[in-house]
Amino acid sequence: VSAVVIDGAALARSVYGKLAERVRKLADAGVRPGLGAIQVGDNPASTIYVGGKVKACSAIGVHSEVRKLPADVTEAAILAAIEAFNRSPAIHGILVQLPLPSHVSAERVTQAIAVEKDVDGFTWHNLGALVAGHPALAPCTPTGVMAMLDHYAIPLEGRRAVVIGRSTEVGKPMALMLIARGATVTVCNSRTRNLPEITAAADILVVAAGKAGLVTAGMIKPGAAVIDIGINRRADGKICGDIDYAGVAEVAGFVSPVPGGVGPMTVAMLIANTVVAAERMSRTAAP
Ligand code: NAP
Repeated sequence: VSAVVIDGAALARSVYGKLAERVRKLADAGVRPGLGAIQVGDNPASTIYVGGKVKACSAIGVHSEVRKLPADVTEAAILAAIEAFNRSPAIHGILVQLPLPSHVSAERVTQAIAVEKDVDGFTWHNLGALVAGHPALAPCTPTGVMAMLDHYAIPLEGRRAVVIGRSTEVGKPMALMLIARGATVTVCNSRTRNLPEITAAADILVVAAGKAGLVTAGMIKPGAAVIDIGINRRADGKICGDIDYAGVAEVAGFVSPVPGGVGPMTVAMLIANTVVAAERMSRTAAP
């Protein structure tokens, strides 16, 4: 048996097609959505991520601005850059590319973003709204995973879902979204005992640990949907996820590859959140 491959890149293209129409509508109303990105230091991965987001913006007519700050910048200077984006009428979405240098509090920086421009969905206001079941701007990676599951019509209600990883940015919001859809959710972490026993019961398995090779074929329920969020760089420089893709694809019903799975959908959801934020702000601003 071979799993259906969940093609995140193709799904992202169709998302951009729909977003481009909404961007044109906003243009008719005199509004151009804008994304403000802050990059601290020149971590090569961060440069690639920010570059990809800027490219995605320009492809569908979304304005973008990047503030590149040196690695030894003060936290106050980062907060000032955020404040400038918070006040800018050309900017509807703000992202701070993580990780930040260790002398800076990522928490203080993230929480300084205006709630209505928080397109990563990391402010406590927006995370709290997700907890309460009234998401406004929700974290992009789990939102992208939900769109992938829905596109392939994978049922969630009444099903067993297992999330590996409990980070505030990925694992926790992922679990909340699955809970909201009526799945029975188990969240695992690095201390979890008998991980293979837990994953083997999963109809939906979402892996977000950042550990290459963590999930193997023997841990998968036959026919399960397996979504690989992990991004790891192998010794040969190539990117891989957290699952043994070839082995898992023999057992699973659906599997998402890395690259070409969750990554492109994460970027698409960021741009979608920026368009949503612009639509909301333009309605509020209307006379
Ligand atoms: P993180 O903050 O490092 O969290 C990793 C989580 O995985 C932690 O909760 C950790 O447990 C758990 N974990 C680690 N090793 C484990 C193990 N052996 N068994 C079970 N659980 C284990 O990372 P993150 O920000 O959530 O990101 C997770 C991965 O997704 C990374 O590879 C990241 O690069 C990737 N990512 C991809 C995208 C995308 O667009 N595709 C977006 C965001 C992140 P503890 O809490 O006990 O330490």
